[in-house]
Amino acid sequence: MYILLLGAPGVGKGKQADLLKKEFNVKILSTGNLLRERAKKDDDLGKEIELCLKKGNLVPFEVVVTLLEEAINSDEYKNGMIFDGFPRTTEQASKLEEILIKKKGMGLEKVIYLDVRPRVIKERILSRRICEKCGKDYNLLLDYPKTGKCGRCGGDLKKRSDDTPETVEHRLEVFKESTAPLINYYKEKGVLVSINGDRDVNAVFDSIKSVFKK
Ligand code: AMP
Repeated sequence: MYILLLGAPGVGKGKQADLLKKEFNVKILSTGNLLRERAKKDDDLGKEIELCLKKGNLVPFEVVVTLLEEAINSDEYKNGMIFDGFPRTTEQASKLEEILIKKKGMGLEKVIYLDVRPRVIKERILSRRICEKCGKDYNLLLDYPKTGKCGRCGGDLKKRSDDTPETVEHRLEVFKESTAPLINYYKEKGVLVSINGDRDVNAVFDSIKSVFKK
């Protein structure tokens, strides 16, 4: 099963991916998490990635695709995957199609677009905290653990370095310019399902589930 979650930063792709993972028993492939993990290495590539993340710019195509292909080819993803944060450009989308067709003989069947108003996105991003160890995200106003530690692995929770008011504005611009064209790209292919993400997490999840349980 291949599920693609499309949407601006902060629309709740990570939260929905977590719920889908439990429901359908498929792993999440988040390029943001892969990149944050790679950026921890103290080498030239690690530093280059860290800088892109901090500024809210897209990491170069070759770097992201190399990390993505390594992950897709690992055993962990043999039952399929939920793509969170990839593709972010039409160039990445056609690369993904090529990879999936080569590997599985088929492209994507459904792309879920989560639609949320920019004002809500900003509020959500600024109250987001993530686990340093496993990447799970929490919201200070909704589900922040009383212990201040990750409920899944016990790791420390912190603000992402790119979740600042200035970087959020820039990331939304990057989304508008580079990623939003994918909405039409997938619409024209007949695979896009648009869902109002401006609702309670579980209501959004029910809408997504119904797409796959028809
Ligand atoms: P996310 O965790 O999806 O919000 O991604 C955080 C940051 O990682 C983005 O602002 C980009 O700098 C980088 N990133 C994640 N996915 C991609 C991608 N598919 N292409 C390029 N850069 C990416």
